[in-house]
Amino acid sequence: MGFNCEHCTAIGTRLSDYRIICFDGLENTKVGGGMNRTKSKTEFDRAKTLMPGGVNSAARAFGAVGGDPIVFDRGQGAYLFDVDGNQYIDYIGSWGPMILGHQFQAVKDAVHAAVEKGTSFGAPTVAENELADLIIEAMPSVEMVRLVNSGTEATMSAIRLARGYTGRDVVVKFAGNYHGHVDSLLVAAGSAAATLAVPNSPGVTLGTSADTMVLGYNDVEGIEAAFASSGDKIAAVILEPVCGNMGCVTPTPEFLSALRNLTQANGSVLIFDEVMCGFRVAGGGAQSLFGVMPDLTTMGKIVGGGLPLGAFAGKKEIMQHVLPSGKVYQAGTLSGNPIATAAGIAMLTALRDDPPYQRLEAISARLETGLRKAAQSAGGDFSINRVGSMMTLFFNAHTVTDWESASKCDTQKFAKYFWGLIERGIYMPCSQFEALFISNAHTEQDIDKTIDAAKAVIAEIK
Ligand SMILES: *Cc1c(COP(=O)(O)O)cnc(C)c1O
Repeated sequence: MGFNCEHCTAIGTRLSDYRIICFDGLENTKVGGGMNRTKSKTEFDRAKTLMPGGVNSAARAFGAVGGDPIVFDRGQGAYLFDVDGNQYIDYIGSWGPMILGHQFQAVKDAVHAAVEKGTSFGAPTVAENELADLIIEAMPSVEMVRLVNSGTEATMSAIRLARGYTGRDVVVKFAGNYHGHVDSLLVAAGSAAATLAVPNSPGVTLGTSADTMVLGYNDVEGIEAAFASSGDKIAAVILEPVCGNMGCVTPTPEFLSALRNLTQANGSVLIFDEVMCGFRVAGGGAQSLFGVMPDLTTMGKIVGGGLPLGAFAGKKEIMQHVLPSGKVYQAGTLSGNPIATAAGIAMLTALRDDPPYQRLEAISARLETGLRKAAQSAGGDFSINRVGSMMTLFFNAHTVTDWESASKCDTQKFAKYFWGLIERGIYMPCSQFEALFISNAHTEQDIDKTIDAAKAVIAEIK
């Protein structure tokens, strides 16, 4: 499914409505230089012969910025070390989970202790009760939990549950929101009517995409129109209540309250996909930050403390429809895995007992202010969105509020910014349409070093 990239001359592949992957044409965007990554290059060349594109997740490839991904050896606190021994300040944090930094001691200890008891039983354990309890305690709308193995599994199961519970087919999603690689959510808005979504990966059938409606994020009129025309067919509305997957984008209070009111009035299930923002923007997720309660919540990333674990959860009345108490099928050989569960318990316990959110807000605000000044002094077009420790510097003069405005960013400039920072030892997300994450392991010195590097890079590329 090749197409002409909107932002460069490359023929790319559209992985979804927002991830534009340019496989070629960005090789000349590198600035700076000097780091030796010989071993990294050798290993990645080998990887390309062994795995498609050399990676086990498309988001890891440097398609949107050109060049080869860096091969890493280890992480410690706020830092990553590549196989050549270069050190980087890490603003990806494994795409979210590392809110307390790499090798957080309590998580490490819990994993070691769990390994001593066996790696998997496929039977109930006390640890599952403990993690479910911690989730219910943290997330204000959650009464009952099912543990799964990834964020994708969580959203896939939540969608099935919403459909089984309501007996309806249609799911509403928003352009630029990512919910994992669930077939029915790997769709883009069709060109004419919002009611006709189209697959945006080969292998997703028209039949599957036909049951999904794609609307604009923050578009209150759009969602009102959808409910006016098809309210009795809509099983669920799913959204990122703080969006991180088109870069960081904040919902307006009007948008959230319209979603809550319309789903309630029409008997549809409101699903907050908190895989990224849960335990990140606040201990109780976006729902506690904004005071808007969904019917179902999906979690991943932080909830597993860096191990493969996800969860879908919500009102007892709905959750009880999951097999075996109800009829909606769901199962998993490794679900509630003791190692992943131990990591999750240690992580959520640390976040509850010693909440990092105030400090995260302070150092994140420091980074935002610094980047703003750096970009302003260079005089380029930019805007910054931030919610807590999620942030994006957009190469776009206008505030980004939805996918339409996000897609107007200068991604060529972003690629240069990205490589300039890499060469200065700063590891940022490799796409304009990903949020960066600050961890509690980042020091003020790390932040200031990042600001200085950004200032130098922005001045160079403007
Ligand atoms: C990462 C992410 C997912 C998918 O989670 P995986 O663990 O990668 O399957 C789903 N929803 C959101 C909002 C995410 O950020």
